[in-house]
Amino acid sequence: MDLVPHVIDGEEVESEGGARFHTVDPWTREAWAEVALGGQGEADRAVAAARRAFDDGPWPRMGFAERGAVLHRLADLMVEHTEELALADTRDMGKPISDSTGKDVPRSALNFRFFADHARLAAGEALPMDTGHHAYTRFEPAGVVAAIAPWNFPLMLETWKVAPALAWGNTVVLKPAEDTPTSATMLARLALEAGMPPGVLNVVHGFGPDSAGQALTEDPRVDRITFTGESGTGRAIARAAAANLTPVSLELGGKGANLVFADADLDTAVPWSVQAIFSNAGQVCLAGSRLFVERSVMPEFLARFTAAAAALRLGDPKDRATQLGPLASEEHYKKVRSYVDGIEADGGEVLAGGLDDGWVVRPTVVHAPPTARVYREEVFGPVVVVQPFDSEAEAVALANDTPYGLNAMLFTENLSRAHRVSAALKAGTVWTNCFFIRDLRAPFGGVGDSGVGREGGSFSREFFTEPKAVVMAIHDDVPVPSSGPRRSAQ
Ligand code: NAD
Repeated sequence: MDLVPHVIDGEEVESEGGARFHTVDPWTREAWAEVALGGQGEADRAVAAARRAFDDGPWPRMGFAERGAVLHRLADLMVEHTEELALADTRDMGKPISDSTGKDVPRSALNFRFFADHARLAAGEALPMDTGHHAYTRFEPAGVVAAIAPWNFPLMLETWKVAPALAWGNTVVLKPAEDTPTSATMLARLALEAGMPPGVLNVVHGFGPDSAGQALTEDPRVDRITFTGESGTGRAIARAAAANLTPVSLELGGKGANLVFADADLDTAVPWSVQAIFSNAGQVCLAGSRLFVERSVMPEFLARFTAAAAALRLGDPKDRATQLGPLASEEHYKKVRSYVDGIEADGGEVLAGGLDDGWVVRPTVVHAPPTARVYREEVFGPVVVVQPFDSEAEAVALANDTPYGLNAMLFTENLSRAHRVSAALKAGTVWTNCFFIRDLRAPFGGVGDSGVGREGGSFSREFFTEPKAVVMAIHDDVPVPSSGPRRSAQ
């Protein structure tokens, strides 16, 4: 069985004492690779390497063009190695291979290209002042970044953090999720091949609490922590970071509302709504897991929606025709199953779908009261709660009745309504007549329990740099303090 090692200071290494764990293919339910199991010691070594590479190495001192060229080379190599990277994520967490090759790897390469170019174009601001002074902003790299990632879009979300951090001249320690370690080691290998100096991108494998993850969040040599994962984990990380006053960016859970108005074009609304909850087997922070449909179109919408969901091709994620694979791990399957099992006891009913063999859950449509766990909590599986509404005001109130606020979507042909409802929704992103369409310049993040801070474009720049104001007197006649030395007129 292959070993997935750490990558520290440019070397592929095992843990001290040789500790290992397995990564399991959720379709076969068998271990398919061994992984170096890191802890405090490996996190220490990785942070020390990143610290040296930042304090004494060339990376933060390079020009944007030179650094950008390395990141573009890395993107090229990722495209060249699309099949291996995609298969690693598919085997680690059961994502359909058509998604990992067609969407995740291309988007991961784009993350590097976009942030390399963005950093080069957005490197500073000049502020001429009326007083005879001149101020400008320097966006200096923050230092060592700890990037802690989840398992649902392994490579894509890791690069979403690593790319801007590197583009702005930081060095990084990446801890991928324990269920999806493989593509992170491959990424670090390709970065070295692209010419990135040793110690600039380090990868440490291991678990969260009392393991490599926690050690990174408590290390005072770390200057930024960027985390994507569950809201409860986000709280633990924020507490750990507070001890060192380390700035954190937290991209957390969601319970996205999807509002379908009676004036919607159902040919648009149905396929996007299916995509919004069943793609990646519902293991999407942005999932439209609460579906509110205007009562007059509910029968037609529901018939078309459940038919389209049932037609999704379920199977081996390595098969290019598969649209819905298993859930990512046994532990996660048990969690999702507990929500499905509890629906009737909570006063709800399953309208379509349910459990299948193995760790597979079929596209599941449920009706449940607002008090039910499945209605209130993030299930993170292919399970959607459907509820009718009678007015725009009621739809907005239902959508906003959640502690989360990552995203929402609405389907309507009424332009005024689209603007009005977009403004009224409590969410970091609102989509109208579409879903998951991203512009990497736009802010990305959540309200309430869905997160703290925003990343993307200039928002990533603000987080991964220490903006410095430089102010200079540029005219000879600017006033100086009366007690200070006088300039001689020339
Ligand atoms: P998780 O919180 O269990 O784990 C995420 C990462 O944190 C893993 O690498 C884990 O090892 C690490 N970790 C766990 N406890 C830690 C601790 N105490 N200290 C340091 N590190 C720790 O999340 P998950 O199950 O991997 O991912 C699913 C969650 O991620 C869902 O809630 C989903 O909504 C959320 N998510 C959010 C976004 C977003 O952009 N807002 C995107 C994807 C996923």
